[in-house]
Amino acid sequence: MKNPYKNSPRPEPDEMERRADMLRAAFADDYEKSERGESIRPRLGDLMSIQYMRERQTLSFVLHPELKEIAYEIGYRIGRDICSDMIRGKTLPEIMQSNRPIAENISYAFEEIVEADEKHAVYRHYECADCYGLPDIHDKVCVYEAGVAAGMFSEALGKQCTVTELKCCANGDPYCEFLVEVTD
Ligand SMILES: [Zn+2]
Repeated sequence: MKNPYKNSPRPEPDEMERRADMLRAAFADDYEKSERGESIRPRLGDLMSIQYMRERQTLSFVLHPELKEIAYEIGYRIGRDICSDMIRGKTLPEIMQSNRPIAENISYAFEEIVEADEKHAVYRHYECADCYGLPDIHDKVCVYEAGVAAGMFSEALGKQCTVTELKCCANGDPYCEFLVEVTD
């Protein structure tokens, strides 16, 4: 297979940050639009099938597991820079409670908090858009969720948090389960 993207040029770090900043501003505008009840696209609206996302993500991670590390870092930046405004609270349990309805509001999953204290938390996702209904491939594929959650919780708490997926529908489990650890 000939790959036209082989050796894609890599801009200077400053230029990459400038582009990321432009995107962050554009995404913030998109969220404001949505709050006003407007859609980004005039005719097709903002919703589309979850197959689009899950096929790309799961095959990416199954065929190129090395991408998980990068996806976690990208997710972390999305959570830290774009999504963390959505949650409130000073302590980890407060932050977890504030975060809980978001997954359902965007039809990503039903979220349940299993336990939460100052240093750690465990939460579950039922009917996760990324992995629900996938066969047991002995893998945990909801890496973006873990990264986004880590970025959001770290920013909201002002302390570094790590989020690890412990259970996943792609691993034969009936739901996804995530462990949040405050590492500061
Ligand atoms: Zn999962």
